Amino acid sequence: MPDMPNKARQLSEKQSEYMHLIAEIMEIRKRGEKPLAFIHTYGCQQNVADSERIKGMLDKSGFGFTDTPDDADFILFNTCAVREHAEDRVFGNVGALKNLKRRHPQILIALCGCMMEQEHIADRIYNSFPFVGLVFGTHSLHRFPELLYRSLVDGRRVVERGNDDRLVYEGFPVHRDGSFKGWLPVMYGCNNFCTYCVVPYVRGRERSREKDVILSEAKEMIAGGFRDITLLGQNVNSYGKTLETPVSFAQLIREIDSIDGDYWLRFMTSHPKDCSKELIDAIAEGQHISNHLHLPFQSGSDRVLKAMNRHYDRKKYLETVAYAKERIDGLSLTSDIIVGFPGETYEDFKQTLSLIREVEFTSLFTFIFSPRKGTPAEKMDDPVPAEEKSKWFRELLDVQEEIAAKRCASMVGQTERVLIEGVKEKTGELNARTGGNIIVELTGNKDLIGTFQNVKITKARNWILKGELN
Ligand code: SAH
Ligand code: SF4
Repeated sequence: MPDMPNKARQLSEKQSEYMHLIAEIMEIRKRGEKPLAFIHTYGCQQNVADSERIKGMLDKSGFGFTDTPDDADFILFNTCAVREHAEDRVFGNVGALKNLKRRHPQILIALCGCMMEQEHIADRIYNSFPFVGLVFGTHSLHRFPELLYRSLVDGRRVVERGNDDRLVYEGFPVHRDGSFKGWLPVMYGCNNFCTYCVVPYVRGRERSREKDVILSEAKEMIAGGFRDITLLGQNVNSYGKTLETPVSFAQLIREIDSIDGDYWLRFMTSHPKDCSKELIDAIAEGQHISNHLHLPFQSGSDRVLKAMNRHYDRKKYLETVAYAKERIDGLSLTSDIIVGFPGETYEDFKQTLSLIREVEFTSLFTFIFSPRKGTPAEKMDDPVPAEEKSKWFRELLDVQEEIAAKRCASMVGQTERVLIEGVKEKTGELNARTGGNIIVELTGNKDLIGTFQNVKITKARNWILKGELN
């Protein structure tokens, strides 16, 4: 690794040694022919990308993978803390492993990810689930082999959290889940402290990977047949600001875009407060950059945006959208929205509805506000009852369904370039996606999975398109 600081390099070498030691131990401990790991990932793509790195380290430690917890020697849940619902699912699913551990006491059960960086959660896990042998947070991911080794040899429970040393660790193996659609983290953490959000607390301060490291990973993915690559960061627009030689995100995507090959490049998440014209121009002028922009606005009301600490207003958001629509052909916009932020009134909510009508998003990720421990919003007055918020939420879904249906219907008759992603189990049809991230279903041979095809859109069903191979 060219620009890795000494501390990070030493750590990566040390972790490689632990991977060899784990392989030796597992040779004796395994239950079947090969030690097997079961990994379940909750939450966002960043977690998926982290799990791919954990799997890479397990792969190097001699493990294979299984989808059946019963067959596993090692079970890991990579958890999400963004909303209460995600946390509840983890507690439920971990509780359900108690009997499995009783049947097979030699299985090692571990939990990692964002939830584990919250002290009250790590404590609750430790106290309620004595059969969980290893707990580590996002800041300890790069020390996973050492932690796994310790819990295997000591036979004692290992808990490791905190230690945000703000370094970026490189040189770890990656075991990617897909063969043509993949994730590429460009930065970690977040400095924005939106008042509802737990991410800055559990993923630490913003830090970027070196441009050359990202470029070489992108080259490797493209050469390896990846067709749809998503660059990941909590706020990609501030990529590179903290690097020794600062680089803008627009520069980064222009350089990746100049790599030869047949692929789509996309990225998430772009924060509207600093989504620059430079970035929009880079998308418009790119060869491979898809015409899809995920630009979460969260609320259409300036009052609520201010209380959320988002640092943009409705006017600025709409100006950015107008510029993007003008510059990028067939632009497809998607967004995240929170309904029922503390103090939000129905009047505020109506501004969210009017904004989605005005912009006409392709699709939306919609969430009801979930109070997160330790965030400022948790302590804000929240007088609107849950049933009322659910009513607003359903109203939002209805409006969006109408918009998406209209948008999809307007595409009938067009020819779209799509990436064939898989087969729909129920009907045997192929599933595909446009560059703008719209789902297209069509009849065709399974051999086409992982290839780009031109498809004529024949029908629109709400937010899904039907098509025929051209
Ligand atoms: N960094 C990204 C988002 C990360 S979290 C960004 O700034 O857009 C993904 C989404 O989860 C957020 O955009 C928000 O809509 C939602 N979210 C985060 N915290 C939430 C909370 N406490 N309650 C409800 N939704 C939340
Ligand atoms: Fe959370 Fe805001 Fe950071 Fe996104 S930008 S991760 S919503 S604090």
